[in-house]
Amino acid sequence: MADATETAQDAAGESLTDQAIPHPRHDMAVFLDFDGTLVDIAPAPDAIVVPPDLPRDLRRVCDLLGGAVAIVSGRPLSALDRYLGSAGLVFVGEHGAIRRLPGDRPALEASEWPAGWDAALDRFAADYPALVVERKLSGITLHYRLAPDLSEAARRLGDELIAAHPEYAIFPAKMAWEIRHRDIGKASAVKFLMTQPPFAGRIPVFIGDDIADEAAIAVVSRMGGHGLHMAKAFGSRPARVREWLKSFSTLGPENS
Ligand SMILES: [Mg+2]
Repeated sequence: MADATETAQDAAGESLTDQAIPHPRHDMAVFLDFDGTLVDIAPAPDAIVVPPDLPRDLRRVCDLLGGAVAIVSGRPLSALDRYLGSAGLVFVGEHGAIRRLPGDRPALEASEWPAGWDAALDRFAADYPALVVERKLSGITLHYRLAPDLSEAARRLGDELIAAHPEYAIFPAKMAWEIRHRDIGKASAVKFLMTQPPFAGRIPVFIGDDIADEAAIAVVSRMGGHGLHMAKAFGSRPARVREWLKSFSTLGPENS
């Protein structure tokens, strides 16, 4: 069977994308970013809209692939639970910092970043109410989507926070700055899962849209899989990814 033959085109026949979308296969392992990949980006993290059939469609793909589907997101596990909990998938949260297999105990929600940062974050949130300060288990995300002119102020706060903590770094994200431990990343999370059942031995597919996804896209490509960039493969439209997930239903059970 041909492995990668489709390219996406929008309804008007414009924006031809240049990265082929692979046909569904039983021997794939599918790794999916969440925001900007499965759902459209919203003005604030809590304002996204999750189509009601998305968890069910993900569940179906997961069943067809023997459980080899993981959401690999910058979000905390609690948010992934809220939006996709019913899908019963492997969740990798906070850019690879925390991971949970279906049925496992929820991770303890206690912060690991320097406690001394709290006061500065409180002050900053009070001074700049238009910035969304997201405190995660393993780091901080400063969202400036609601006030793009505050990007520099957010960046300065990040520089102040990490000045005494060189093990942390600031990473650019979509209209946000991510402050997280240097050792944490989606690429290492995907590499680790690919050594574990049910992922090991399968053809990895990673789909993501953000700067934080680039390394994971490169890793699965080097492994002989498909590292798919949202802009290049899906025209930056999560609806197309959801259609691709629905197309797995044409596979049928593995042994039929
Ligand atoms: Mg994303």
